[in-house]
Amino acid sequence: MTTGIRIEDVRKRYGHGDTAVDALKGVDMEVAPGEVVGLIGPSGSGKTTLLKCLGAVIEPTSGRMTLGDDLIYDHGWKIPDLRALRRDKIGFIFQAPYLIPFLDVTDNVALLPMLSGLPNSQARSRARELLEALDVGHRAQAMPSQLSGGEQQRVAIARALVNRPPVILADEPTAPLDSERALAVIRILNRMAAQFETAIIVVTHDEKIIPTFRRLYQIRDGRTHEQAGDGREV
Ligand code: ADP
Ligand code: MG
Repeated sequence: MTTGIRIEDVRKRYGHGDTAVDALKGVDMEVAPGEVVGLIGPSGSGKTTLLKCLGAVIEPTSGRMTLGDDLIYDHGWKIPDLRALRRDKIGFIFQAPYLIPFLDVTDNVALLPMLSGLPNSQARSRARELLEALDVGHRAQAMPSQLSGGEQQRVAIARALVNRPPVILADEPTAPLDSERALAVIRILNRMAAQFETAIIVVTHDEKIIPTFRRLYQIRDGRTHEQAGDGREV
């Protein structure tokens, strides 16, 4: 049984001296494998900073972080190859899909497993399987510019899931989507979490999806506060 995500007393200070900003002042958070948790809080409360620390995009100032089986940070990085950590352990979903415009849909999804050393044919068949599961299989050979916004976002979700990372970090993934499509994204994340034991954090202030979480954390004043959600079926 792996940990999922554990964050212990993580702090992040930007800058030094008089102009320093304490964005995170001791965050504690735990997400079990197979669990999808919401992270909410006002603008500027540190949500993106926390995802960036967890995703090894920026370095915390102190604390401990565990992802899957690995203690990745304990007052310093514990993993020598942070790029491999990001590639193999973490799927990122951003507000905008950021697909590669000159690769077709299949190769946008297959690129990451190819870079991880999977033979191209296997990477492509794994990509197509996921695209099918996300109901965009019929667009597998299209170029990103030929897709609707909702289709592009589902391709971006396939890309985040394709290496079967133990952790998915989503920063406002449904912001550009209408209600039905936003709920479809949550449905897919819930399904993937259950199927692959993925621990998922969804940063959002989207009122359409907030009632779907069983558990949420709110960031206020640089600290997290756990709260129960409605856990509405989607
Ligand atoms: P949120 O995603 O909740 O809107 P952020 O994590 O982006 O919040 O920002 C948290 C705080 O940290 C804000 O006060 C913001 O101005 C500050 N901040 C974010 N990034 C930087 C940076 N690179 N340098 C200095 N301050 C930053
Ligand atoms: Mg943000």
